[in-house]
Amino acid sequence: MAGRYDVIVLGAGAAGMMCAIRAGQRGRSVLVLDHAAAPGEKIRISGGGRCNFTNIHAGPKNFISANPHFAKSALARFAPRDFLSMVESHGIAWHEKTLGQLFCDNSAKDIIVMLTDEMRSAGVELRLRTEISAVEPVIGGGYRVSTSEGTFEAASLVIATGGKSIPKMGATGFAYRIAEQFGLPLVETRPGLVPLTLDPQLLQRLAPLSGIAAPAEIRHGKTAFREALLFTHRGLSGPAILQISSYWREGDEITVAIEPDIDIFVMLKTARQANGRQSAQTALADILPKRLAQHFAENEGMSGNMADQGDKRLQQLAAAVQAWPVKPSGSEGYRTAEVTLGGVDTACLDSRTMQVKTVPGLFFIGECVDVTGWLGGYNFQWAWASGHVAGEAA
Ligand SMILES: Cc1cc2nc3c(=O)[nH]c(=O)nc-3n(C[C@H](O)[C@H](O)[C@H](O)COP(=O)(O)OP(=O)(O)OC[C@H]3O[C@@H](n4cnc5c(N)ncnc54)[C@H](O)[C@@H]3O)c2cc1C
Repeated sequence: MAGRYDVIVLGAGAAGMMCAIRAGQRGRSVLVLDHAAAPGEKIRISGGGRCNFTNIHAGPKNFISANPHFAKSALARFAPRDFLSMVESHGIAWHEKTLGQLFCDNSAKDIIVMLTDEMRSAGVELRLRTEISAVEPVIGGGYRVSTSEGTFEAASLVIATGGKSIPKMGATGFAYRIAEQFGLPLVETRPGLVPLTLDPQLLQRLAPLSGIAAPAEIRHGKTAFREALLFTHRGLSGPAILQISSYWREGDEITVAIEPDIDIFVMLKTARQANGRQSAQTALADILPKRLAQHFAENEGMSGNMADQGDKRLQQLAAAVQAWPVKPSGSEGYRTAEVTLGGVDTACLDSRTMQVKTVPGLFFIGECVDVTGWLGGYNFQWAWASGHVAGEAA
């Protein structure tokens, strides 16, 4: 005999738990299944252990999708303020770090405890360490889920098993297989919010810079992000690179501008006038970390005194620092990517409910859907919003 519920949610991550809470609050009997030993594992490791749980400025412009309008409805129905109200009602201390990014003061675990408490209050049943072997529609309506812990049936089935990023933490691509099983279209998946790698030659030249961070603007076509850039022993990282990585495609070039708020050409000319006997490297080191200044000065062959450098040479040096074309060789891939771009094509989903238009009772929410946020709390906001609207309808 199969256990019967109104709603089965596959995946006890951010989206799945939020959906289960809302459905349970509506009086639906809800079962959440997950193969992991604990719920919300990605929440636990997020935001450096403090969970950047939302962004107060979150809007459709902060998301990447084949249909940029799709996310509007869910984001409007469950806004950052709504999640913040829940956080505050649980007495969780929080702060805004930068750019509207809200973090827990203490620990990301506070958010997990909040969600599991809310699930309990809403009467949701959570079963962990449960391997899912098959999902099938039941004749006459509803779905049957076969698992290592038995068979369960429900009128509504919500797929909230996330994307492919960090396979070590149990990411499986399960949602895409279910989508394929039901004949639903997928948008090609690729790693997002991920460090970019460099070819061995360039990497060797940049090796002395490993560990250095600097404010930068990274551009790819018309898209640009101003945040920190970090040189690593594999290539380039830091928030600015993670952001642009979601737009970058294999073979593309990006443009790096270090210290974009400073006009380096003007700064160099002023330095030459003030002290013609200093080297370009010394002048640059006034605004750049020393090793970075050395790298650019040497690379541009800037030896001798500033007084000996004409405007053209200073312009060349400034351009090297602020219009530096870099062709990454690849990315670190799903191993370290914070998110998966692409996924279940939004064209097959109702944006108000996340239900599959052609398959009544089947829902996809969270990261497995082709809606991917920027770095900065946007991905959790999408998980909460899409989970909430599905929980209203499932
Ligand atoms: C290191 C890191 C830091 C991050 N920091 C932030 C941050 O600070 N702010 C932010 O907004 N976003 C952050 N993100 C992104 C964010 O974690 C995800 O976008 C979000 O967790 C997606 O929620 P989800 O519920 O869709 O999927 P997930 O949270 O991935 O949950 C999916 C659940 O499904 C389960 N599951 C998967 N496959 C199966 C299967 N076959 N059978 C049973 N269960 C299965 C998993 O065990 C998991 O519990 C971070 C991501 C990473 C990797």
